[in-house]
Amino acid sequence: MSKTLIIANWKANPKTVRRAVALARAVHREISKYLPAGKAGRNVELVVAPPFPFLIPVKGAIRRAALGAQNAFWETHGPYTGEVGTAELKNLGVRYVILGHSERRINLHETDEMVNRKVRAVLAAGMTPVICVGERHREGGEIPSIVGEQVRAALAGVKAKDAGRVVVAYEPVWAVSTQPGAHPDTPESAFRAAVYIRKIAAAALGRAAGTQIRVIYGGSVTDENIASFLHEGRMQGALVGGASIDAKKFASLFRAVSRLKYRE
Ligand code: PEP
Repeated sequence: MSKTLIIANWKANPKTVRRAVALARAVHREISKYLPAGKAGRNVELVVAPPFPFLIPVKGAIRRAALGAQNAFWETHGPYTGEVGTAELKNLGVRYVILGHSERRINLHETDEMVNRKVRAVLAAGMTPVICVGERHREGGEIPSIVGEQVRAALAGVKAKDAGRVVVAYEPVWAVSTQPGAHPDTPESAFRAAVYIRKIAAAALGRAAGTQIRVIYGGSVTDENIASFLHEGRMQGALVGGASIDAKKFASLFRAVSRLKYRE
């Protein structure tokens, strides 16, 4: 069984490098307090994804977490002003790259095709893409077909042998805590979305891919609801925004995850 994957998406927070290091140290301290090193390592994989300028200082401050980036360009390096290439991220020790987050799709008009190029580049560089998919609105209980289209497009041209290196984050836009009126999805609905995502992945990459890809949930995850998404929703982890930039809240969430895993 794969480890539960918890990804802290700091977005464009905090404002200064001093605060970023302080947050990373506080998260490290809190997590160490709640979890003996061996157990945490065995059951949960923690990824911290700070803004680009803080990658190196954060890496130094929180050694028990893998380093994540919040975006990458689809080339390794070169004449792409303002972008950060996959080789550059890999060289810094980045292991996970969040791609196609709704804030990028909405604010920067990132398209499915752009996300797909980035997915392939991140895989080629030996890092793990965390592909964010999710509908903007939902009426009724059905998972909208846009989710399937986003998954299909993101996986185009990906090799079947790489399915086990792909993470899909089901993150309905209306559930992201910064959206007006946001509220978390239900574990049942997230579960149905995961089944649908696996079906699309199997159709795109071959039957085995349906079970090999990892599907996690994102959208207003807190220490109070994380266990239900992992247990009833059978999600393989969570992408956490707001609750990840408060060290105490995040540690409490992390503790809930670890306790759940130890019970199994
Ligand atoms: C996110 O934007 O990736 C996210 C999951 O945010 P939040 O946890 O704040 O809803």
